[in-house]
Amino acid sequence: MVTQETSIIFPRGKVTFDIGRCPQRACFQQTVLLSHAHLDHVGGLPFHVCTREMLSLPASRVVVPQGFAAGVRKLVDAARELQGSPPLDYQVLELQLGEDHVLPSGYLCRCFPTTHTITSQGYVLYSQRRKLKAELQGKSQEEIRQLRLAGQDVTDTVAVPEIAFTGDTTAGFLDGPGCATLEDALKARVLIMEMTFLCDDVTVDEARDKGHMHIADFVANAHRFQNEAIVLIHFSPRYKRTDIITTLNTMLPPSLMAKCVPLLNGIE
Ligand SMILES: [Zn+2]
Ligand SMILES: [Zn+2]
Repeated sequence: MVTQETSIIFPRGKVTFDIGRCPQRACFQQTVLLSHAHLDHVGGLPFHVCTREMLSLPASRVVVPQGFAAGVRKLVDAARELQGSPPLDYQVLELQLGEDHVLPSGYLCRCFPTTHTITSQGYVLYSQRRKLKAELQGKSQEEIRQLRLAGQDVTDTVAVPEIAFTGDTTAGFLDGPGCATLEDALKARVLIMEMTFLCDDVTVDEARDKGHMHIADFVANAHRFQNEAIVLIHFSPRYKRTDIITTLNTMLPPSLMAKCVPLLNGIE
């Protein structure tokens, strides 16, 4: 079983992480970052593209894992053909590991590998800030002003990881080969992470076979997460709202629970 849909909107970045069935607010985010192609994450994409076209908004920009662009185009184009509309203006970009992609909102986007039943990846968005060059630290403001007036560039641009999204994954993504973007995901200010299974009705091994996180894996790796806040999503529909809250409070050590926020929209 899977949750009904996943679409997490980050308005400041004009981004939606996955598109779910395309909730209305997602239409107003230009960029769709797709973690993988399961329907609960990608099904609403034709609606996103068509709605933005209809409202004369800038064309949808869809970022996908490597090898998925052609399939995603087929999905959108089939819907367009069925409704007999003229060709739609939209972009599909495959983002590879190690590649930088700057979004129209100015955020820098990079991806990291995740481990699901099909090809998948997570994303990190970075703000880009100007910082005084290391060799100029300790100089007076007047000295720096003189250097700037002389035409010298006194700052470097640093990328600060602000928000990360795992999409569907097992805890195996934490054990992947050294990946700087994964390490950034684990220290981004906010991490949005799936937490499908919470109880032993599905064991840790079974959760891994199904391609999802188990809370016991989260607890075992608690020391890895340096984030200020962790938003937990994608709970199995077998759990009720009260089960989720009770289990998190029981299973998570207090220091981890203090920064976890379960996203319970639509859960009874
Ligand atoms: Zn999935
Ligand atoms: Zn899913």
